[in-house]
Amino acid sequence: MKPLDAQAYVDGVRGGDRAILARAITLIESEQPAHAELAQEVLGALLPETGGAYRVGISGVPGAGKSTFIDALGTMLTSRGHRVAVLAVDPTSSISGGSILGDKTRMSTLANDPKAFIRPSPTSGTLGGVARKTRETILLCEAADFDVVLVETVGVGQSETIVAGMVDFFLVLLIAGAGDELQGIKRGILEVADMLAINKADGDNLPRATRAQASYQGALRLMRAGSVPPVVTCSALEKTGLRELWALVVESRGDLEASGEFQQKRQAQQVQWMWDMVEDGLRRALHGDPDLSALIRKLEGAVGDGHATPSAAALRVLRRFAERAGDVLTRG
Ligand code: GDP
Repeated sequence: MKPLDAQAYVDGVRGGDRAILARAITLIESEQPAHAELAQEVLGALLPETGGAYRVGISGVPGAGKSTFIDALGTMLTSRGHRVAVLAVDPTSSISGGSILGDKTRMSTLANDPKAFIRPSPTSGTLGGVARKTRETILLCEAADFDVVLVETVGVGQSETIVAGMVDFFLVLLIAGAGDELQGIKRGILEVADMLAINKADGDNLPRATRAQASYQGALRLMRAGSVPPVVTCSALEKTGLRELWALVVESRGDLEASGEFQQKRQAQQVQWMWDMVEDGLRRALHGDPDLSALIRKLEGAVGDGHATPSAAALRVLRRFAERAGDVLTRG
């Protein structure tokens, strides 16, 4: 499909036209330089209308109940008048070419809800590229008047840190396991979490979920200085605990806004985003230039078999890079 002109995207997104919103996201996801320019023009025009949503990240291992949870929470929120967008960051999608996250069939109620918009993870590009696309998609959804943006991710690799860096609130869904609750949970995820929710707290599983809640509370008290994030229980299937959970998200936002930390966090994220783009550009320029690539390969060999020191080799790469930088850097 041919791209529209910039104004048509801007008007369509502004007017909440979902088909145009979807096409604007496709434009943002495109790797073609001409599309990138158009996408930036559209984003620039819409920028004043962005920033208004609750941006909430939701992470959890496969089977934790993310899609059931998002379906239930999202439906609760649309029934209260919110407009809910669901995005996904799936680090495996660029390898497999398909995303298991943000799949509409996994969220059947929300997928048919006129107040909801679901978009799967971009399926091409590096994790850095996926992060850029998702951040820009958040902005588009906000300009289209979605006031809740849920970003789903699996806790694989760096994905949770990346998602935590683009949302206001990061929620980790867990399930009670047998034995040591903390086994198999990466420390990193507990460090970035703003709340833990033990899902599937229903039926026979309820006592185990309550025990897990207590042990996570204890673990967080040990590892996090200052205020400890809440640990709640819920059942996405029976739709219990969701009201209380969302009330805590809203309360946390109110507290952070009152203290000024909310704006500070968003500003810091914007600056981090800029640096991510700069570093991503440098890396691409370094590896995308054939002359440099040849030199790098040669020097890797020399360093590997001890003919050059890593420092001297690094200096040579950087010197050659600086010589060639000019247009290489800003090309794409
Ligand atoms: P995801 O892989 O994290 O998206 O997990 P799903 O939402 O697909 O859920 C995995 C399985 O757990 C499905 O069979 C769900 O029906 C089930 N499930 C999800 N939430 C709950 C819950 O709150 N209670 C119970 N008993 N089962 C649940």
